[in-house]
Amino acid sequence: MKYYSTNHNAPIVSFKEATIKGQAPDKGLYFPENIPSLPEDLIKNIRHFSKEEIAYRVIAPYVGEAIPKNELQRIVNDTVNFDIPLVKITDTIAALELYHGPTLAFKDTGARFMSRCLGYFVKDNDKKVTVLVATSGDTGGAVANGFYDVEGVDVVILYPSGKVSSVQEKQLTTLGKNIHALEVDGTFDDCQQMVKQAFADEELNKQVFLTSANSINVARWLPQQFYYFFAYQQWVTASSGAAENPPVICVPSGNFGNICAGILAHVAGLPVQHFIAACNANDVVPAFMQTQQYIAKNAVATISNAMDVGNPSNFVRILRIFNNEFVNLQKVLSSVSITDDETRATLKSVYTNQQYLLDPHGAVGYSALHRYLQHHPGQKGIVLETAHPVKFYDVVEPVIGEKIPLPPAVAAQINAEKKSTKISADGALLKDFLYSMA
Ligand SMILES: *Cc1c(COP(=O)(O)O)cnc(C)c1O
Repeated sequence: MKYYSTNHNAPIVSFKEATIKGQAPDKGLYFPENIPSLPEDLIKNIRHFSKEEIAYRVIAPYVGEAIPKNELQRIVNDTVNFDIPLVKITDTIAALELYHGPTLAFKDTGARFMSRCLGYFVKDNDKKVTVLVATSGDTGGAVANGFYDVEGVDVVILYPSGKVSSVQEKQLTTLGKNIHALEVDGTFDDCQQMVKQAFADEELNKQVFLTSANSINVARWLPQQFYYFFAYQQWVTASSGAAENPPVICVPSGNFGNICAGILAHVAGLPVQHFIAACNANDVVPAFMQTQQYIAKNAVATISNAMDVGNPSNFVRILRIFNNEFVNLQKVLSSVSITDDETRATLKSVYTNQQYLLDPHGAVGYSALHRYLQHHPGQKGIVLETAHPVKFYDVVEPVIGEKIPLPPAVAAQINAEKKSTKISADGALLKDFLYSMA
């Protein structure tokens, strides 16, 4: 498989190059030259396949020759080795719980796959690769965990001191080994600025092999298709006749990478009735679906803050999938914006009436799906629950008036010792640090 840039002004590359580069040099996103159709028997007989077999078949055409078969199977097996259960909430709504991975959020799947691919690609390099990221919370934890102990790769994570939650900080700072946390005396924007400056520094890049683990990387984007198939497998196994009535799938969306992977899976052959992109007050895409005008905005802060995105970078990939033909896009995708008040009300009512605890992102999704199903009687749906509610305890606990017990994995991490290097928001200091590691 070859990948071209959505800006059409950069050379065509292999999966390997696309993974190492992250973004195309013309600032476009890499996109596969064609979308492979899945073998029909995979869908028809999906209940007879293991998770590992499904995932391998889905990703193999995208990786092509870049990774040998047995190595790719090992990477895939490692990526999917935690539960992704489909849990019934009401007669018409089930939740796909994507939060049973090591950092309790769906980003684990993409980060685990990408880190292992990169580890494979740099194995025979004489130079180590340094993954450099700035984080405001969730991404850093998933990246740190995904790359932990991957040989030949160092990870440097910048985070704003005092501005990430205690759970998130521990996820970044307690691993050690090849994971280095830089606690920056500044804001998230300062961190991002320092990272940008480092990537733009030619002299530095000659000495240190820097790469990003950005969410637009194809090796993070494409494996997110896996769990849409796992959802469908559980959907058809749960009740007879379910295969004739495929699910409406609702995805809480920010940068639109997750839902874009789902739509890709659908175009490749996965039965889905309809997709809903559930957004918070950041409503660029809901507005676009109404007016066909794409107007990027500054992000506004909400209680589902991992979706506070004013210019979702993966939306161009969704448009690409449909060759920019709006009529076809509209048949497959709807998008709505949900307020913080609705999100809190949904969180509370689903907890009270169904004894199911959503996180704020999942609650945005549940609200949107519930609304859609009211207008489409006879249909049923799945909401993607993208994070464990404990990650957002500061929002969830006051709404339900109860404490959320810590899952064992987190409880252990909360008590582990924090190891970070404090630095002021100064690009020159970051440069010194990167040199000292080379
Ligand atoms: C990142 C994130 C999202 C948004 O996912 P996108 O792929 O950017 O649309 C939703 N929920 C949680 C919990 C996240 O961490």
